[in-house]
Amino acid sequence: MNFEDSPEEAAYRAQVRGWIAANAPDMSHLSPEERRNWHDRHKEVAGIWQATKADAGYGCISWPVAWGGAGGTSIQEAIFNQEEARAGLQFTYFMTGLHMLLPALLEHNKDPLSLSLIPPAVRGDKIWCQLFSEPSSGSDSAGIRSAAVKEGEEWIVNGQKVWNSGAQIADYGMLIARTDPDVPKHKGLTAFWIDMKTPGVEVRPIKMMSGDNELNEVFLTDVRIPDSQRVGEVGGAGKSSFLP
Ligand SMILES: Cc1cc2nc3c(=O)[nH]c(=O)nc-3n(C[C@H](O)[C@H](O)[C@H](O)COP(=O)(O)OP(=O)(O)OC[C@H]3O[C@@H](n4cnc5c(N)ncnc54)[C@H](O)[C@@H]3O)c2cc1C
Repeated sequence: MNFEDSPEEAAYRAQVRGWIAANAPDMSHLSPEERRNWHDRHKEVAGIWQATKADAGYGCISWPVAWGGAGGTSIQEAIFNQEEARAGLQFTYFMTGLHMLLPALLEHNKDPLSLSLIPPAVRGDKIWCQLFSEPSSGSDSAGIRSAAVKEGEEWIVNGQKVWNSGAQIADYGMLIARTDPDVPKHKGLTAFWIDMKTPGVEVRPIKMMSGDNELNEVFLTDVRIPDSQRVGEVGGAGKSSFLP
């Protein structure tokens, strides 16, 4: 496999390297402690950088232009990420939302409320977290036990998630819960988006050996989610657009 840039890719790399050098946020005022991922001041700089990128069309390079992307290729996105890393700009706050969760939301939901969540995420004003893994369900999502039971136009969710990156600072989460225990396991799963401030959502940080707090447990107790916040069809979350 040839990992060298094609002439077009090399030109794109030169273009974004120049743009990053001219627009990179100044981090010189941050102490070593403040430069750590998940520190408030680090997050603040990350938000400024994401907004700067969004204004220039680099916020979500491979997304359609209509949604704040550049209509670019995955290779261009990878080149930009490499150049960011080269410049010491490695912010993880928006990756889960922009690269994993919101593409699924865009694919499945066309209602105004769901779509209104996209622009603030692209600009880095809102952070998303993924609420998939559970104590008994990691890479095998068919083991998800958190249950959502329909009551009128709402779903009542109870259960526990774990290893949720950034849940302690996230504004929104995408959650997978079991809505039908009587069908083959991967067919009984449904996705929802939730406001992380919804009553019944409790985030408990997991302190890592490094002292950082990236990962969390999230406990869900009688969390009421309107059916309008369902992402895709009932029983549709076992499909590949949701799962990594
Ligand atoms: C840094 C970090 C950040 C994370 N962030 C998030 C997050 O934001 N949100 C979230 O929901 N989760 C998150 N996770 C959890 C992550 O998605 C899971 O850890 C991952 O899915 C693996 O699950 P597990 O550790 O339980 O391993 P397991 O699922 O127990 O897997 C262990 C081994 O068993 C194999 N295995 C599992 N099931 C089967 C099967 N049915 N058949 C054959 N082999 C199987 C796997 O391939 C693997 O080799 C994060 C994890 C890490 C390390």
